[in-house]
Amino acid sequence: MKKIIVISLIVSAITLLFPASFALREPETGALWYSPSPLVTLLDGEHSQSMTLEEYVVGAVAAEMPASFEPEALKAQAVALRTYAMRKKYMEPSQNHEETVCSDIGCCAAWMSESALRERWGEDFDKYYSKITAAVNDTRGVYLSYENEMALAVFHSSSPGRTEASENVWTTAVPYLVSVETPESAETVPNFITSVTLSRDDFQEVFKKQHPSADFSGAETDWIKGAEYLPSGRLASVEIGGVRVTGREVRELFGMRSADLSFEIGEDGITLTSVGYGHGVGMSQYGANVMAASGADYREILSAYYPGTELLEI
Ligand SMILES: [Zn+2]
Repeated sequence: MKKIIVISLIVSAITLLFPASFALREPETGALWYSPSPLVTLLDGEHSQSMTLEEYVVGAVAAEMPASFEPEALKAQAVALRTYAMRKKYMEPSQNHEETVCSDIGCCAAWMSESALRERWGEDFDKYYSKITAAVNDTRGVYLSYENEMALAVFHSSSPGRTEASENVWTTAVPYLVSVETPESAETVPNFITSVTLSRDDFQEVFKKQHPSADFSGAETDWIKGAEYLPSGRLASVEIGGVRVTGREVRELFGMRSADLSFEIGEDGITLTSVGYGHGVGMSQYGANVMAASGADYREILSAYYPGTELLEI
């Protein structure tokens, strides 16, 4: 009985000292202490589980960005993924599943459990796991906001000089998903430029599967013509076998890494070359890493790739 009284006295004293409106901040980072972190549910394959938002962000950053990246780039990635999950939880629930998020990159974002990461990183596990956890903790509760809404914090791997405006990829313009300069290059990104060569027959077959009316009976120099480019340098559209298609469709049809595409007809067949990797909208992960290596912090990185947004804390 005495114990209970003592404990309740301590609890009352703490409540008096720190009323609910009093914002506790971590002494080192100035980040808000809050407890508990909001819960999210995750669909991982067939398996559904519940975890805190911060736990989710650790597994998502680890799965989405190389752990060897600069700490400030990892922090920017943590904020983008936290914002993504919060948007799903509070604003725009997924139409594909009941859970807040899933680990399918075609639907939400990649996510890996601690045991899967142990397997992936082997003896580097401790080093990388603490690096990722630090990036998440240092930005705890921080998210990107635009006009009091959680921003659509999409990202991609790398871009050829400029990122892409959202309306050129998904038809809807978003004020902070505009085309901006990005600093990565072939020196800082592995496989920045990739090529695929198809025989003339294979090229026609792949294209005709989707566009049976395509006509390749004329001169070879007329097979691919009338290319139009977006201001970012990516292919807007091109005429192939007399059918006009978007750069995005060409990218998907031939399994290219980006819509920054060029074509060459040579002896071996038709060579498609792409620069960068991904849809090109929002933050470039390799660009963020180059910025961080040059001294930018995560706030500068995020404001460069999502101009007009602001950082808020839960
Ligand atoms: Zn999903």
